[in-house]
Amino acid sequence: MTFKTKDENIAAVLYGAHDLRVEKRPIPQPQAGEVLLRIKATGICGSDLHYYLDGGLGPRRIDSSKPMILGHESAGIVVSIGDDTTKLKVGDRVVIEPGRSCGVCSYCCQGRYNLCPKMKFSSSLLQGPNDGSLCRYACFPENLCHRLPDNMSFDDGALIEPLAVALHSVERTPIKVGSTVHVFGAGPVGLLTAAVAFVKGAVNCTIFDINQDRLDFAKKYLPNGVRVVLLPKIKFQNAEDTITWAQDNAIHFLRDLSNDDSDNFADVVFECTGVAECIMLSMYVVQRGGTVMLIGLGRDKTLMPTDIITTREVDIRGNFRYANVHKKAITLVEQGRINLSSLVSHRFKLENSNILACLPLPLSNADFLAV
Ligand SMILES: [Zn+2]
Ligand SMILES: [Zn+2]
Repeated sequence: MTFKTKDENIAAVLYGAHDLRVEKRPIPQPQAGEVLLRIKATGICGSDLHYYLDGGLGPRRIDSSKPMILGHESAGIVVSIGDDTTKLKVGDRVVIEPGRSCGVCSYCCQGRYNLCPKMKFSSSLLQGPNDGSLCRYACFPENLCHRLPDNMSFDDGALIEPLAVALHSVERTPIKVGSTVHVFGAGPVGLLTAAVAFVKGAVNCTIFDINQDRLDFAKKYLPNGVRVVLLPKIKFQNAEDTITWAQDNAIHFLRDLSNDDSDNFADVVFECTGVAECIMLSMYVVQRGGTVMLIGLGRDKTLMPTDIITTREVDIRGNFRYANVHKKAITLVEQGRINLSSLVSHRFKLENSNILACLPLPLSNADFLAV
């Protein structure tokens, strides 16, 4: 079915650091098994910001001869369907799951498709550049489009993606009713991870961040009783110094949390910053036999205090995106157990050039773009 419209497809295309251009692109036609979406809302991910500010993420840098459309946190409406689509129809409102895995490797066959070595993830240079969905029209396989319930907005839909990260990471920890949880980073993923941990039964939660505004927002956003710790803005050149600082200071941060003698070590620590100082502190604020979940993806490689990890039987786990959680994430929002709309801090029109340059940094919570 050929889709016809007078509307133009515009896209936010990254050519290099601080070089984001709004361009007209042809409206793609859906292939077999795909649907064409009119994108209605896209969240700005930390990774989009890194690409914009640094021209890359980790070791990969954008090549201006192969520019990339940013964005992967999107919701939209089906406007055309390709052959062999059986599930979706024109007019359906959907959330996209922005990673196309190969579907045949051993990871895909086990359902751990987030680990697929051939994964093509929207707005990522890994196996790419892979164009994202910070545009008006984009095609996606229908099996990566999840229906939005009537009571959920496109804004909510766009923020299902960071919620999926949070949900996947919480599911990979042993949190149970009564657990104590520490979260490093009060950005959207940190806040949503804490929110999901509460849903799962955590009763004590502490959020660490270097930004007081973020912490103030965390206190409003999360259930009563959440505690916050303002970390100093500190950066060590040397990994040994980072370990010494974390070892010397962890206990002070924990003691400040209460008036009684309780030690405040956590059953589970979620590290959502990727910053070496926070990763190190995580190792010293987790209790014996506890779990540290590494979610944040930083630039740094770092030393680890292996003596502590071994003798205290600390389980360290990594978390990369998500698999098989979008439907559950949608249900949590549909049932009102997780609030997404209050995470939206700004709205921009896609056609405004240099959108990301408008964002106030550091961001207070999820920053947002409506198209
Ligand atoms: Zn994201
Ligand atoms: Zn695969």
